[in-house]
Amino acid sequence: EGNHPGTRRVLLKLSGEAFGGGKVGLDPDVVRGIARQIATVAREGVQIAVVVGGGNFFRGAQLQQRGMERSRADYMGMLGTVMNCLALQDFLEHEGVETRVQTAITMGQVAEPYIPRRAIRHMEKGRVVIFGAGAGMPYFSTDTVSAQRALEIKCDAVLMSKHGVDGVYTADPRTDPEARKLETLTYADALSRNLKVVDAAAFSLCMENDLPMLVFGMDGEDSIARAVRGEKIGTLVTA
Ligand code: UDP
Repeated sequence: EGNHPGTRRVLLKLSGEAFGGGKVGLDPDVVRGIARQIATVAREGVQIAVVVGGGNFFRGAQLQQRGMERSRADYMGMLGTVMNCLALQDFLEHEGVETRVQTAITMGQVAEPYIPRRAIRHMEKGRVVIFGAGAGMPYFSTDTVSAQRALEIKCDAVLMSKHGVDGVYTADPRTDPEARKLETLTYADALSRNLKVVDAAAFSLCMENDLPMLVFGMDGEDSIARAVRGEKIGTLVTA
Protein backbone atom coordinates (compact mmCIF):
# COMPACT_ATOMS: atom_id res chain seq x y z
CA GLU A 1 0.00 0.00 0.00
CA GLY A 2 2.72 2.45 0.93
CA ASN A 3 4.90 4.24 -1.50
CA HIS A 4 7.81 2.26 -3.01
CA PRO A 5 11.19 3.49 -1.79
CA GLY A 6 12.79 5.67 -4.44
CA THR A 7 9.52 6.61 -6.13
CA ARG A 8 8.37 10.08 -5.41
CA ARG A 9 4.63 10.55 -4.88
CA VAL A 10 3.24 14.04 -4.50
CA LEU A 11 -0.05 15.80 -4.01
CA LEU A 12 -0.21 18.93 -6.13
CA LYS A 13 -2.78 21.57 -5.23
CA LEU A 14 -3.65 23.84 -8.14
CA SER A 15 -5.36 27.11 -7.37
CA GLY A 16 -8.60 27.53 -9.28
CA GLU A 17 -7.89 31.21 -9.64
CA ALA A 18 -5.00 30.43 -11.98
CA PHE A 19 -7.25 28.35 -14.27
CA GLY A 20 -9.21 31.47 -15.14
CA GLY A 21 -6.14 33.52 -16.01
CA GLY A 22 -7.38 36.19 -13.61
CA LYS A 23 -11.00 36.11 -14.86
CA VAL A 24 -14.15 34.13 -14.08
CA GLY A 25 -14.27 30.87 -16.03
CA LEU A 26 -11.55 28.90 -17.76
CA ASP A 27 -8.66 30.01 -19.92
CA PRO A 28 -7.82 26.94 -22.05
CA ASP A 29 -4.34 28.28 -22.84
CA VAL A 30 -3.52 28.44 -19.14
CA VAL A 31 -4.84 24.93 -18.50
CA ARG A 32 -2.87 23.60 -21.49
CA GLY A 33 0.33 25.11 -20.08
CA ILE A 34 -0.30 23.56 -16.67
CA ALA A 35 -1.09 20.18 -18.25
CA ARG A 36 2.16 20.24 -20.26
CA GLN A 37 4.21 20.73 -17.11
CA ILE A 38 2.40 17.95 -15.27
CA ALA A 39 2.79 15.64 -18.28
CA THR A 40 6.55 16.26 -18.35
CA VAL A 41 7.08 15.26 -14.73
CA ALA A 42 4.61 12.37 -14.93
CA ARG A 43 6.69 10.95 -17.80
CA GLU A 44 9.79 11.30 -15.60
CA GLY A 45 8.13 8.78 -13.27
CA VAL A 46 6.82 10.92 -10.42
CA GLN A 47 3.46 9.70 -9.10
CA ILE A 48 1.11 12.65 -9.09
CA ALA A 49 -2.29 13.32 -7.59
CA VAL A 50 -3.87 16.73 -8.10
CA VAL A 51 -6.43 18.63 -6.04
CA VAL A 52 -8.01 21.41 -8.07
CA GLY A 53 -9.49 24.54 -6.52
CA GLY A 54 -12.48 26.43 -7.82
CA GLY A 55 -11.91 30.10 -7.01
CA ASN A 56 -12.23 30.97 -10.72
CA PHE A 57 -15.92 30.05 -10.50
CA PHE A 58 -17.30 30.49 -6.99
CA ARG A 59 -16.08 30.95 -3.44
CA GLY A 60 -18.70 30.09 -0.86
CA ALA A 61 -17.65 32.78 1.59
CA GLN A 62 -17.98 35.48 -1.08
CA LEU A 63 -21.44 34.32 -2.15
CA GLN A 64 -22.45 34.29 1.51
CA GLN A 65 -21.50 37.97 1.79
CA ARG A 66 -23.87 38.63 -1.11
CA GLY A 67 -26.73 36.97 0.75
CA MET A 68 -26.58 33.27 -0.14
CA GLU A 69 -26.85 30.50 2.39
CA ARG A 70 -23.30 29.36 3.13
CA SER A 71 -23.67 25.62 2.64
CA ARG A 72 -25.43 25.95 -0.69
CA ALA A 73 -22.83 28.45 -1.86
CA ASP A 74 -20.06 26.07 -0.79
CA TYR A 75 -21.64 23.27 -2.82
CA MET A 76 -21.57 25.59 -5.82
CA GLY A 77 -17.89 26.17 -5.10
CA MET A 78 -17.26 22.42 -5.02
CA LEU A 79 -19.10 21.90 -8.32
CA GLY A 80 -16.88 24.58 -9.85
CA THR A 81 -13.78 22.57 -8.97
CA VAL A 82 -15.16 19.64 -10.99
CA MET A 83 -15.27 21.74 -14.17
CA ASN A 84 -11.61 22.58 -13.62
CA CYS A 85 -10.86 18.86 -13.14
CA LEU A 86 -12.48 17.95 -16.45
CA ALA A 87 -10.56 20.67 -18.26
CA LEU A 88 -7.28 19.51 -16.75
CA GLN A 89 -8.11 15.89 -17.60
CA ASP A 90 -8.78 16.84 -21.20
CA PHE A 91 -5.50 18.70 -21.68
CA LEU A 92 -3.50 16.00 -19.88
CA GLU A 93 -4.95 13.38 -22.21
CA HIS A 94 -4.01 15.58 -25.18
CA GLU A 95 -0.46 15.28 -23.87
CA GLY A 96 -0.78 11.49 -23.84
CA VAL A 97 -1.02 11.11 -20.06
CA GLU A 98 -3.59 8.70 -18.65
CA THR A 99 -5.79 10.25 -15.99
CA ARG A 100 -8.67 9.51 -13.67
CA VAL A 101 -10.92 12.07 -12.02
CA GLN A 102 -12.32 11.16 -8.60
CA THR A 103 -14.91 13.37 -6.94
CA ALA A 104 -16.02 13.67 -3.34
CA ILE A 105 -19.58 14.29 -4.55
CA THR A 106 -20.72 11.31 -6.60
CA MET A 107 -21.37 12.01 -10.28
CA GLY A 108 -20.85 8.76 -12.11
CA GLN A 109 -21.17 10.12 -15.65
CA VAL A 110 -18.10 12.29 -15.35
CA ALA A 111 -15.90 10.83 -12.64
CA GLU A 112 -15.18 7.96 -10.30
CA PRO A 113 -16.11 8.37 -6.67
CA TYR A 114 -13.24 9.07 -4.29
CA ILE A 115 -11.74 5.67 -3.44
CA PRO A 116 -8.32 6.10 -1.87
CA ARG A 117 -6.99 2.61 -2.52
CA ARG A 118 -8.02 2.82 -6.14
CA ALA A 119 -6.35 6.23 -6.43
CA ILE A 120 -3.10 4.64 -5.24
CA ARG A 121 -3.43 1.87 -7.83
CA HIS A 122 -3.97 4.43 -10.58
CA MET A 123 -0.80 6.25 -9.60
CA GLU A 124 1.18 3.02 -9.49
CA LYS A 125 0.06 2.42 -13.08
CA GLY A 126 1.34 5.85 -14.09
CA ARG A 127 -2.03 7.59 -14.18
CA VAL A 128 -2.44 11.10 -12.86
CA VAL A 129 -5.35 11.20 -10.41
CA ILE A 130 -7.35 14.42 -10.27
CA PHE A 131 -9.50 15.01 -7.19
CA GLY A 132 -12.59 17.20 -7.51
CA ALA A 133 -15.39 18.55 -5.32
CA GLY A 134 -13.05 19.20 -2.42
CA ALA A 135 -13.97 17.17 0.64
CA GLY A 136 -17.62 17.13 -0.39
CA MET A 137 -18.29 19.17 2.74
CA PRO A 138 -19.21 22.82 3.17
CA TYR A 139 -16.94 24.98 5.36
CA PHE A 140 -13.84 23.22 4.05
CA SER A 141 -11.29 24.51 1.58
CA THR A 142 -9.33 22.77 -1.14
CA ASP A 143 -6.10 23.56 0.77
CA THR A 144 -7.30 21.50 3.73
CA VAL A 145 -8.50 18.71 1.48
CA SER A 146 -5.08 18.64 -0.20
CA ALA A 147 -3.39 17.94 3.13
CA GLN A 148 -5.97 15.26 3.97
CA ARG A 149 -5.71 13.51 0.59
CA ALA A 150 -1.90 13.66 0.68
CA LEU A 151 -1.96 11.90 4.04
CA GLU A 152 -4.52 9.30 3.07
CA ILE A 153 -2.86 8.28 -0.20
CA LYS A 154 0.61 8.44 1.37
CA CYS A 155 2.30 11.24 -0.52
CA ASP A 156 5.82 12.39 0.34
CA ALA A 157 4.83 16.03 0.25
CA VAL A 158 1.97 18.40 -0.45
CA LEU A 159 2.77 21.07 -3.05
CA MET A 160 0.55 24.12 -2.64
CA SER A 161 0.67 26.30 -5.72
CA LYS A 162 -0.51 29.84 -5.28
CA HIS A 163 -1.61 32.41 -7.81
CA GLY A 164 0.17 35.78 -7.65
CA VAL A 165 2.56 35.00 -4.78
CA ASP A 166 5.71 32.84 -4.93
CA GLY A 167 5.97 31.60 -1.35
CA VAL A 168 5.32 32.47 2.26
CA TYR A 169 6.17 36.04 3.30
CA THR A 170 6.63 37.58 6.75
CA ALA A 171 3.62 39.79 5.95
CA ASP A 172 1.32 40.37 2.97
CA PRO A 173 3.71 41.48 0.17
CA ARG A 174 0.90 43.30 -1.64
CA THR A 175 0.38 45.72 1.23
CA ASP A 176 3.59 45.66 3.30
CA PRO A 177 6.82 46.86 1.59
CA GLU A 178 8.85 45.34 4.45
CA ALA A 179 7.53 41.83 3.72
CA ARG A 180 10.30 39.26 3.15
CA LYS A 181 10.00 35.86 1.50
CA LEU A 182 10.91 32.93 3.75
CA GLU A 183 12.89 29.96 2.38
CA THR A 184 11.88 27.67 5.20
CA LEU A 185 9.37 27.84 8.00
CA THR A 186 7.90 25.59 10.67
CA TYR A 187 4.18 24.91 10.95
CA ALA A 188 4.24 26.23 14.50
CA ASP A 189 5.62 29.56 13.24
CA ALA A 190 3.16 29.72 10.36
CA LEU A 191 0.29 29.23 12.81
CA SER A 192 1.54 31.50 15.59
CA ARG A 193 2.33 34.31 13.11
CA ASN A 194 -1.10 33.83 11.56
CA LEU A 195 0.34 33.62 8.03
CA LYS A 196 -2.72 33.20 5.87
CA VAL A 197 -1.29 32.18 2.51
CA VAL A 198 -2.46 28.62 3.30
CA ASP A 199 -5.40 27.73 5.59
CA ALA A 200 -4.61 27.16 9.25
CA ALA A 201 -6.48 23.84 9.10
CA ALA A 202 -4.13 22.62 6.34
CA PHE A 203 -1.05 23.77 8.28
CA SER A 204 -2.16 22.02 11.45
CA LEU A 205 -3.09 18.76 9.72
CA CYS A 206 0.38 18.63 8.15
CA MET A 207 2.05 19.59 11.43
CA GLU A 208 0.31 16.86 13.39
CA ASN A 209 1.25 14.24 10.81
CA ASP A 210 4.75 15.46 9.94
CA LEU A 211 4.02 15.99 6.25
CA PRO A 212 6.24 18.54 4.46
CA MET A 213 4.55 21.30 2.44
CA LEU A 214 5.98 23.39 -0.36
CA VAL A 215 4.24 26.71 -0.98
CA PHE A 216 5.16 28.13 -4.38
CA GLY A 217 3.92 30.41 -7.15
CA MET A 218 2.44 28.71 -10.16
CA ASP A 219 3.19 31.61 -12.47
CA GLY A 220 6.32 31.11 -14.55
CA GLU A 221 7.30 28.71 -17.32
CA ASP A 222 8.07 25.57 -15.36
CA SER A 223 7.46 26.28 -11.68
CA ILE A 224 4.97 23.42 -11.33
CA ALA A 225 7.40 20.92 -12.89
CA ARG A 226 10.21 22.21 -10.66
CA ALA A 227 8.10 21.89 -7.53
CA VAL A 228 7.06 18.33 -8.41
CA ARG A 229 10.72 17.38 -9.00
CA GLY A 230 11.55 18.64 -5.51
CA GLU A 231 13.64 21.61 -6.64
CA LYS A 232 14.30 24.45 -4.25
CA ILE A 233 11.62 27.00 -5.05
CA GLY A 234 9.01 28.72 -2.94
CA THR A 235 8.92 28.14 0.81
CA LEU A 236 9.37 24.74 2.46
CA VAL A 237 7.20 24.31 5.56
CA THR A 238 8.01 21.48 7.97
CA ALA A 239 7.13 20.29 11.44
N1 UDP B 1 -15.36 24.14 -0.99
C1 UDP B 1 -16.04 23.54 0.06
N2 UDP B 1 -15.55 22.39 0.61
C2 UDP B 1 -14.38 21.82 0.18
C3 UDP B 1 -13.66 22.46 -0.86
C4 UDP B 1 -14.17 23.61 -1.43
O1 UDP B 1 -17.08 24.02 0.48
O2 UDP B 1 -14.01 20.76 0.71
C5 UDP B 1 -15.94 25.32 -1.67
C6 UDP B 1 -15.73 26.62 -0.94
O3 UDP B 1 -16.88 27.40 -1.09
C7 UDP B 1 -14.57 27.25 -1.70
C8 UDP B 1 -14.85 26.80 -3.12
O4 UDP B 1 -15.37 25.47 -2.95
O5 UDP B 1 -14.56 28.66 -1.61
C9 UDP B 1 -13.66 26.79 -4.07
O6 UDP B 1 -12.53 26.20 -3.46
P1 UDP B 1 -11.26 27.06 -3.00
O7 UDP B 1 -11.70 28.41 -2.56
O8 UDP B 1 -10.49 26.25 -2.04
O9 UDP B 1 -10.47 27.17 -4.38
P2 UDP B 1 -9.09 27.94 -4.74
O10 UDP B 1 -8.92 29.09 -3.78
O11 UDP B 1 -8.00 26.96 -4.59
O12 UDP B 1 -9.26 28.36 -6.15
